Amino acid sequence: MPSSKYFLDTILPELLRNVQLIVVSKTQSVASIQEVYNAGHRAFGENYVQEIVEKNAQLPKEIEWHFIGHLQSNKVKFIAPFISWIHAIDSEKLLIEINKQAAKNNRCINCLLQIHVAQEDSKFGWDRNELIDFAEKTNFSAYPNISIRGIMGMGTFSDDEKMVRSEFKEIVSCFKHLKKNVFKNDPRFLEISMGMSGDWKWAIEEGSTMVRIGSAIFGARK
Ligand SMILES: *Cc1c(COP(=O)(O)O)cnc(C)c1O
Repeated sequence: MPSSKYFLDTILPELLRNVQLIVVSKTQSVASIQEVYNAGHRAFGENYVQEIVEKNAQLPKEIEWHFIGHLQSNKVKFIAPFISWIHAIDSEKLLIEINKQAAKNNRCINCLLQIHVAQEDSKFGWDRNELIDFAEKTNFSAYPNISIRGIMGMGTFSDDEKMVRSEFKEIVSCFKHLKKNVFKNDPRFLEISMGMSGDWKWAIEEGSTMVRIGSAIFGARK
């Protein structure tokens, strides 16, 4: 029956898909994070190494920390003992170092590959073709202390809905290509991290599984 096939293949997966909120707490005080934690939230995102290390030392061990910014290889060792997710992998050098430091700490770290789709050239990551080439030639099983969980991207900082949605579509299409061609036997490759305070609704509608939201929760950063 065509209608039930449509329900099972198209509607049901959307209904069951849940979107995780990463509360972006960069520049916010330990007390403000504690307040959100007390309300029951556990996943927080930061993008400066020194800041996340200091906050981790002062906050409950149950927090699931996400490193969402550009990460330099020489700083991986400072976060490897506690970080749960690293969102912005943009080089093989970084993967090698994360694997090494995760192994030293006897841990497995969740990682996302960063795709660059925005207009701003200051944003890091591979463009679509570079990312596909990289993923096709890389032997990820050489990194047993890393779990590649999906991809991450940022839309252009703009209220041009059509443009930002088309960037999100490009992220999703790249994810689907990688899922089908590179990670087809890896059930852990599931996540699309996209969407921030200004564009999270569009991101969810386009297929995001993780939104990273800061200023919409805490107010504008100083
Ligand atoms: C700061 C930041 C966010 C959150 O930005 P808001 O606009 O405050 O929601 C999300 N992702 C990354 C990579 C960031 O650096």
